[in-house]
Amino acid sequence: MRPPATPLYNLSMSRVSSLHRLQQFDLKIDRATARLEEIRAILEGSEALARSRQKLAEAENHLRAARSAHKDAELAVEGQRTKIEQTEQKLYGGTVKNPKELQDLQQEAEALMRYLSTLEDRLLEAMVKLEEAEEEERAARDELERTEQELAREHNALKAEQQELEAEVARLSEERAVAAASTQSDDLQTYEELRRRLGGLAVAMVESGSCSACGLTISASLLQVIRRADDLSRCTQCGRILYAG
Ligand SMILES: [Zn+2]
Repeated sequence: MRPPATPLYNLSMSRVSSLHRLQQFDLKIDRATARLEEIRAILEGSEALARSRQKLAEAENHLRAARSAHKDAELAVEGQRTKIEQTEQKLYGGTVKNPKELQDLQQEAEALMRYLSTLEDRLLEAMVKLEEAEEEERAARDELERTEQELAREHNALKAEQQELEAEVARLSEERAVAAASTQSDDLQTYEELRRRLGGLAVAMVESGSCSACGLTISASLLQVIRRADDLSRCTQCGRILYAG
Protein backbone atom coordinates (compact mmCIF):
# COMPACT_ATOMS: atom_id res chain seq x y z
CA MET A 1 0.00 0.00 0.00
CA ARG A 2 1.22 3.51 -0.84
CA PRO A 3 2.07 5.86 2.02
CA PRO A 4 -0.34 8.76 2.10
CA ALA A 5 1.33 11.77 0.49
CA THR A 6 0.86 15.24 1.87
CA PRO A 7 -0.91 17.53 -0.63
CA LEU A 8 1.96 20.08 -0.40
CA TYR A 9 4.55 17.45 -1.33
CA ASN A 10 2.51 16.38 -4.33
CA LEU A 11 1.90 19.90 -5.51
CA SER A 12 5.58 20.89 -5.23
CA MET A 13 6.82 17.74 -6.87
CA SER A 14 4.50 18.27 -9.72
CA ARG A 15 5.88 21.81 -10.16
CA VAL A 16 9.47 20.78 -10.83
CA SER A 17 8.64 17.44 -12.39
CA SER A 18 6.17 18.98 -14.79
CA LEU A 19 8.81 21.51 -15.81
CA HIS A 20 11.23 18.66 -16.31
CA ARG A 21 8.68 16.85 -18.43
CA LEU A 22 8.08 19.99 -20.44
CA GLN A 23 11.79 20.25 -21.02
CA GLN A 24 11.96 16.69 -22.33
CA PHE A 25 9.50 17.70 -25.03
CA ASP A 26 11.30 20.95 -25.73
CA LEU A 27 14.71 19.27 -26.08
CA LYS A 28 13.28 16.72 -28.50
CA ILE A 29 11.60 19.51 -30.48
CA ASP A 30 14.87 21.48 -30.47
CA ARG A 31 16.82 18.51 -31.80
CA ALA A 32 14.28 17.77 -34.51
CA THR A 33 14.08 21.44 -35.50
CA ALA A 34 17.88 21.73 -35.72
CA ARG A 35 18.03 18.63 -37.92
CA LEU A 36 15.21 20.01 -40.09
CA GLU A 37 17.22 23.20 -40.52
CA GLU A 38 20.26 21.15 -41.54
CA ILE A 39 18.19 19.18 -44.06
CA ARG A 40 16.73 22.36 -45.50
CA ALA A 41 20.24 23.76 -46.01
CA ILE A 42 21.42 20.53 -47.69
CA LEU A 43 18.38 20.37 -49.98
CA GLU A 44 18.74 24.01 -50.96
CA GLY A 45 22.34 23.99 -51.97
CA SER A 46 25.06 21.46 -52.27
CA GLU A 47 28.73 22.39 -52.30
CA ALA A 48 29.59 19.31 -54.34
CA LEU A 49 27.07 20.31 -56.98
CA ALA A 50 28.36 23.89 -57.10
CA ARG A 51 31.93 22.59 -57.47
CA SER A 52 30.98 20.22 -60.29
CA ARG A 53 29.09 22.99 -62.10
CA GLN A 54 32.04 25.34 -61.71
CA LYS A 55 34.41 22.71 -63.12
CA LEU A 56 32.16 22.14 -66.12
CA ALA A 57 31.90 25.88 -66.77
CA GLU A 58 35.71 26.12 -66.74
CA ALA A 59 36.04 23.09 -69.04
CA GLU A 60 33.53 24.64 -71.44
CA ASN A 61 35.55 27.86 -71.50
CA HIS A 62 38.73 25.91 -72.26
CA LEU A 63 36.94 24.03 -75.01
CA ARG A 64 35.62 27.21 -76.60
CA ALA A 65 39.12 28.73 -76.55
CA ALA A 66 40.68 25.53 -77.94
CA ARG A 67 38.08 25.36 -80.76
CA SER A 68 38.71 28.95 -81.70
CA ALA A 69 42.53 28.48 -81.63
CA HIS A 70 42.15 25.35 -83.76
CA LYS A 71 39.97 27.19 -86.28
CA ASP A 72 42.51 30.03 -86.49
CA ALA A 73 45.35 27.54 -87.05
CA GLU A 74 43.30 25.81 -89.77
CA LEU A 75 42.58 29.09 -91.53
CA ALA A 76 46.26 30.06 -91.34
CA VAL A 77 47.29 26.78 -93.00
CA GLU A 78 44.62 27.17 -95.69
CA GLY A 79 45.66 30.76 -96.36
CA GLN A 80 49.28 29.74 -96.65
CA ARG A 81 48.42 26.93 -99.09
CA THR A 82 46.50 29.40 -101.24
CA LYS A 83 49.51 31.75 -101.25
CA ILE A 84 51.77 28.87 -102.29
CA GLU A 85 49.37 27.84 -105.08
CA GLN A 86 49.26 31.39 -106.39
CA THR A 87 53.05 31.66 -106.31
CA GLU A 88 53.45 28.33 -108.07
CA GLN A 89 50.94 29.33 -110.73
CA LYS A 90 53.05 32.38 -111.44
CA LEU A 91 56.20 30.29 -111.35
CA TYR A 92 55.04 27.53 -113.68
CA GLY A 93 52.28 29.31 -115.57
CA GLY A 94 54.62 30.59 -118.24
CA THR A 95 53.59 34.21 -117.95
CA VAL A 96 56.80 35.15 -116.11
CA LYS A 97 59.81 34.68 -118.34
CA ASN A 98 62.47 36.93 -116.76
CA PRO A 99 65.04 34.57 -115.05
CA LYS A 100 65.66 37.02 -112.17
CA GLU A 101 61.91 37.27 -111.54
CA LEU A 102 61.58 33.50 -111.80
CA GLN A 103 64.38 33.04 -109.27
CA ASP A 104 62.67 35.49 -106.88
CA LEU A 105 59.41 33.56 -107.26
CA GLN A 106 61.22 30.29 -106.62
CA GLN A 107 62.71 31.71 -103.39
CA GLU A 108 59.36 33.11 -102.36
CA ALA A 109 57.71 29.71 -102.90
CA GLU A 110 60.38 28.04 -100.78
CA ALA A 111 59.96 30.60 -98.00
CA LEU A 112 56.19 30.10 -98.11
CA MET A 113 56.65 26.32 -97.88
CA ARG A 114 58.94 26.66 -94.87
CA TYR A 115 56.41 28.82 -93.07
CA LEU A 116 53.63 26.39 -94.07
CA SER A 117 55.43 23.67 -92.16
CA THR A 118 55.56 25.94 -89.07
CA LEU A 119 51.84 26.63 -89.46
CA GLU A 120 51.10 22.90 -89.84
CA ASP A 121 53.02 22.19 -86.65
CA ARG A 122 50.91 24.81 -84.89
CA LEU A 123 47.75 23.26 -86.29
CA LEU A 124 48.82 19.85 -85.00
CA GLU A 125 49.47 21.36 -81.56
CA ALA A 126 46.06 23.07 -81.66
CA MET A 127 44.43 19.73 -82.54
CA VAL A 128 46.09 18.02 -79.57
CA LYS A 129 44.93 20.83 -77.28
CA LEU A 130 41.43 20.64 -78.71
CA GLU A 131 41.28 16.90 -78.04
CA GLU A 132 42.49 17.47 -74.47
CA ALA A 133 39.87 20.18 -73.95
CA GLU A 134 37.16 17.88 -75.35
CA GLU A 135 38.27 15.13 -72.97
CA GLU A 136 38.29 17.58 -70.02
CA GLU A 137 34.81 18.78 -70.91
CA ARG A 138 33.48 15.22 -71.24
CA ALA A 139 34.98 14.27 -67.87
CA ALA A 140 33.49 17.37 -66.19
CA ARG A 141 30.08 16.63 -67.72
CA ASP A 142 30.22 13.01 -66.50
CA GLU A 143 31.22 14.15 -63.02
CA LEU A 144 28.36 16.62 -62.84
CA GLU A 145 25.95 13.89 -63.90
CA ARG A 146 27.30 11.53 -61.24
CA THR A 147 27.06 14.26 -58.59
CA GLU A 148 23.46 14.98 -59.59
CA GLN A 149 22.54 11.30 -59.40
CA GLU A 150 24.20 10.90 -56.00
CA LEU A 151 22.40 13.99 -54.73
CA ALA A 152 19.07 12.75 -56.03
CA ARG A 153 19.53 9.54 -54.02
CA GLU A 154 20.69 11.46 -50.96
CA HIS A 155 17.86 13.96 -51.35
CA ASN A 156 15.23 11.25 -51.47
CA ALA A 157 16.51 9.89 -48.17
CA LEU A 158 16.63 13.40 -46.70
CA LYS A 159 13.10 14.21 -47.85
CA ALA A 160 11.82 11.04 -46.17
CA GLU A 161 13.65 12.02 -42.97
CA GLN A 162 12.25 15.55 -43.26
CA GLN A 163 8.68 14.25 -43.45
CA GLU A 164 9.19 12.01 -40.42
CA LEU A 165 10.71 14.84 -38.43
CA GLU A 166 7.92 17.25 -39.34
CA ALA A 167 5.36 14.72 -38.16
CA GLU A 168 7.37 14.16 -34.98
CA VAL A 169 7.59 17.89 -34.27
CA ALA A 170 3.83 18.23 -34.77
CA ARG A 171 3.13 15.35 -32.37
CA LEU A 172 5.65 16.61 -29.77
CA SER A 173 4.23 20.14 -29.99
CA GLU A 174 0.77 18.83 -29.15
CA GLU A 175 2.09 16.86 -26.20
CA ARG A 176 4.13 19.84 -25.10
CA ALA A 177 1.06 22.06 -25.17
CA VAL A 178 -0.74 19.62 -22.86
CA ALA A 179 2.27 19.55 -20.51
CA ALA A 180 2.50 23.36 -20.55
CA ALA A 181 -1.19 23.66 -19.71
CA SER A 182 -0.66 21.66 -16.52
CA THR A 183 2.22 23.91 -15.40
CA GLN A 184 1.79 26.95 -13.15
CA SER A 185 2.00 30.07 -15.26
CA ASP A 186 4.73 31.80 -13.21
CA ASP A 187 6.80 28.59 -13.26
CA LEU A 188 6.30 28.44 -17.01
CA GLN A 189 7.51 32.02 -17.31
CA THR A 190 10.63 31.29 -15.23
CA TYR A 191 11.24 28.18 -17.29
CA GLU A 192 10.91 29.97 -20.63
CA GLU A 193 13.15 32.79 -19.48
CA LEU A 194 15.85 30.35 -18.29
CA ARG A 195 15.64 28.41 -21.53
CA ARG A 196 16.17 31.59 -23.52
CA ARG A 197 19.14 32.62 -21.40
CA LEU A 198 20.77 29.24 -20.83
CA GLY A 199 20.99 27.59 -24.21
CA GLY A 200 17.63 25.82 -24.09
CA LEU A 201 18.25 23.95 -20.82
CA ALA A 202 16.25 25.34 -17.90
CA VAL A 203 16.01 22.27 -15.67
CA ALA A 204 19.13 20.40 -14.60
CA MET A 205 19.14 16.98 -13.03
CA VAL A 206 21.13 16.42 -9.85
CA GLU A 207 23.43 13.53 -10.64
CA SER A 208 25.93 12.06 -8.15
CA GLY A 209 25.41 15.11 -5.96
CA SER A 210 26.23 17.64 -8.71
CA CYS A 211 24.33 19.90 -11.06
CA SER A 212 24.40 17.93 -14.33
CA ALA A 213 24.50 21.14 -16.35
CA CYS A 214 27.41 22.99 -14.74
CA GLY A 215 28.96 20.41 -12.42
CA LEU A 216 28.56 22.36 -9.20
CA THR A 217 28.54 20.12 -6.16
CA ILE A 218 25.19 20.39 -4.43
CA SER A 219 25.43 20.54 -0.64
CA ALA A 220 23.63 17.87 1.33
CA SER A 221 21.34 20.48 2.85
CA LEU A 222 20.34 21.90 -0.56
CA LEU A 223 19.85 18.38 -1.84
CA GLN A 224 17.38 17.79 0.98
CA VAL A 225 15.51 20.93 0.00
CA ILE A 226 15.45 19.82 -3.64
CA ARG A 227 14.20 16.38 -2.68
CA ARG A 228 11.54 17.88 -0.45
CA ALA A 229 10.63 20.10 -3.42
CA ASP A 230 8.51 22.59 -1.50
CA ASP A 231 9.65 25.19 -3.96
CA LEU A 232 11.71 25.44 -7.13
CA SER A 233 15.39 25.26 -6.15
CA ARG A 234 18.00 26.84 -8.35
CA CYS A 235 21.65 25.98 -8.89
CA THR A 236 23.70 28.76 -7.30
CA GLN A 237 26.26 28.60 -10.10
CA CYS A 238 24.31 28.29 -13.39
CA GLY A 239 20.90 29.37 -12.11
CA ARG A 240 19.01 26.39 -13.51
CA ILE A 241 16.10 24.76 -11.72
CA LEU A 242 17.40 21.63 -10.02
CA TYR A 243 15.50 18.37 -10.25
CA ALA A 244 16.39 15.31 -8.20
CA GLY A 245 14.35 12.95 -10.38
ZN1 LIG B 1 24.31 24.37 -12.29
